[in-house]
Amino acid sequence: HPSAPSLMMNAHFASVGEDASTEEYEHGIQVIDEDKLFNGNLSTYLNVEKIIPAGFNYHVISVFGSQSTGKSTLLNYLFGTQFGVMSEQERRQTTKGIWMSKNKREEASRGMAENILVMDVEGTDGRERGEDQDFERKSALFALATSEVLIVNIWEHQVGLYQGANMGLLKTVFEVNLQLFVKDSKTMPRSLLFFVIRDHLGTTPLTNLQNTLIQDLSKLWSTISKPAGLENSRIEDYFDFAFVALPHKILQPEKFEQEVDKLGRRFKEGYTDPKKSGLLDEASLPIFLPQYHRRIPADGFPVYAEGIWDQIVNNKDLDLPTQQELLAQFRCDEISREVLIAFDEKVTPLEDTQAEDARSGKSSIIPELGAIMNAARTKVLKDFETNASRYHKGVYARKKAELEGKVDTRLKALFQKQLSAAHKSGVEAFSNAVSAAVKGGQKKGASYDFAQIVESEKQNALSKFEKEAQAILVEGAAWSTYKQELNLYQKELDQVSSRLRREEMRRLATRVERWVRSRLDESIGLEFNKLGSGRGGSGAPEHGDRPPSEKDLWDRVWTIFTATVEDAEKRFTDRARSFDASPEEVEVGLWRLRRKSWGVLRAKIEEEVMEGNILLKLRENFEDKFRYDELGVPRIWRPTDDIEGQYTKARESTITLIPLLCRFKLSKTSAPPPLDAWIGDAPASVSPADEEDLTPIGGVDDEEGKSLEEEMTILSDTKQADLLIRFKKTADGVYVEAKRSAIGGMTQ
Ligand code: GDP
Ligand code: MG
Repeated sequence: HPSAPSLMMNAHFASVGEDASTEEYEHGIQVIDEDKLFNGNLSTYLNVEKIIPAGFNYHVISVFGSQSTGKSTLLNYLFGTQFGVMSEQERRQTTKGIWMSKNKREEASRGMAENILVMDVEGTDGRERGEDQDFERKSALFALATSEVLIVNIWEHQVGLYQGANMGLLKTVFEVNLQLFVKDSKTMPRSLLFFVIRDHLGTTPLTNLQNTLIQDLSKLWSTISKPAGLENSRIEDYFDFAFVALPHKILQPEKFEQEVDKLGRRFKEGYTDPKKSGLLDEASLPIFLPQYHRRIPADGFPVYAEGIWDQIVNNKDLDLPTQQELLAQFRCDEISREVLIAFDEKVTPLEDTQAEDARSGKSSIIPELGAIMNAARTKVLKDFETNASRYHKGVYARKKAELEGKVDTRLKALFQKQLSAAHKSGVEAFSNAVSAAVKGGQKKGASYDFAQIVESEKQNALSKFEKEAQAILVEGAAWSTYKQELNLYQKELDQVSSRLRREEMRRLATRVERWVRSRLDESIGLEFNKLGSGRGGSGAPEHGDRPPSEKDLWDRVWTIFTATVEDAEKRFTDRARSFDASPEEVEVGLWRLRRKSWGVLRAKIEEEVMEGNILLKLRENFEDKFRYDELGVPRIWRPTDDIEGQYTKARESTITLIPLLCRFKLSKTSAPPPLDAWIGDAPASVSPADEEDLTPIGGVDDEEGKSLEEEMTILSDTKQADLLIRFKKTADGVYVEAKRSAIGGMTQ
């Protein structure tokens, strides 16, 4: 058995020896053996006797006295214990070291206190150990440090023998008491010295014996050297006294048993003013007064006792307050570890889940997290309090704070990870919900209120987040707030909202552009179709109310275009305003719309002047001029007609259209339309993303190196020349046909 110097040696607390049977401890347990070794199984024994969970509800008493004065016998009678006693024949010392046993009497029926632990201490004037005064001192120290009541067992005939062995023992007790308790007089417990006078003949009344003993004790006290400042202290300052006399066990066995029985009933709890001290002189007064209790929680008793004994055998300064603090530290740590087991069982799987999520990039919300955290925290702190609060208050408070810190660090991590999961999934859900609502609105065809969708989904998202956060608040934990997280969440929702609004703006822009395209498709197509009718052409006579001239084709195109876009801009602005787009965003949107619309127009014109299309239009234009007279009546060619003259006139007239078509310019100024001014400068708030999908426009985007003239060139010179040749061929064909028909008409 190791005799380590501190309390922290054997964590044998509560290691319930399940195999330890009551029989094994029939005679109690030898706490200290004859070699002064402490028994490491004390906690097992106290577990078997169910003392460990008793808290402060237990009592320790010790018996002192000369050897073979019937101490063990008395204890066995009083408490039903089975301490070894000397047989009448052998006359040899039986009790060695210090034995302990729990009271075996029916406590309730006899009115005894619960959980009395009795220590039977080896006789002190030992015939066998005579030389060993050392053990007497050590056992007295041990008994005083642990016991509330010291029974001093003496023969009646020893009373008054001032020089006797008992006085030596008592002197030791007094000295040891001063050594132990005087240092810290505030926490100094009192002890009861309970004199049991054996073989009382009855001739001398107990009071007389009592007085003699008190005189002797006072005399003894006066001879003891006391620490400075305590020279005048009285013995009553530290001890209470009680006296009882018992008849001769062998001569008066029945009376003996009767008196022992009566005595046994005094081992109950009493309540007296702790400040009052002195004699418990009434034969029926209870013995266990609160001020005697050493205030070592039962579950700490084995460690405490071992630590005390360790200090004693190693002749170290036995400082009880320090011992109690050490005990408290040791036990609080142990209790902390124990209560954390249940906490771990609940919390570790949740931590694992979150760690797994972190690895896989998921962020799942743990259901019931709040309930689990609250329950686990409450339980761990409550369990700790229940078991540890009995120990040294300062140490307990410190260890409780330590435990709380440990627990809260982990709970806080769970809490915050859950919040961030709620944040992530909330933002995603918000974005999805808005998109879905927009899609739903689009399907129905009805115009949906984007701003309202965003607002109501944002409220949804916020209240959902708050609900999730509320659900995981941990009661009593100062860190358990989510204000900051809610702020962050709100901020991100706002960011997502503006992103969604931008997307919605794009969708709106696309819709408006589509509208512009279909409008231009029709109206511009119509203008180009008019080319097919030569009657509006330059060959027509000049008079009032004439149909639109081919010369102002581009003026009409520009007017239609700008009017259409203006219309579109209004639509765009109205709609964009409805979902709270900022003036800047609207400005950018309009700018983009104008540019894109120009692209649409440009593409439409491109389509109209595509080789086949424009050739067809020119042919129609020409044919109209050639084959119809000024009144619009089809000509029937006769051979005498000036077919050639008509042909040349019509052809030349149509040919003048080609250069006109090649350039987009206004008739009044002969210059390109003011596209650059009309589109306007890029708004200051335009972002690269806004410009990403834009096609450069000559004369507007200077850096492209393309001029407005070039932008307005509809057909290049080569194309123009090519078109002229093709047109002439087509016209020639028509002419030949006309010629043929004139001749054919004649032969008919
Ligand atoms: P211990 O050494 O003080 O524990 O003494 P024991 O209990 O072993 O008893 C020593 C002897 O004293 C035994 O032989 C007992 O029978 C005897 N004895 C016990 N009680 C009494 C008593 O009240 N009076 C007398 N005269 N003898 C007793
Ligand atoms: Mg004995």
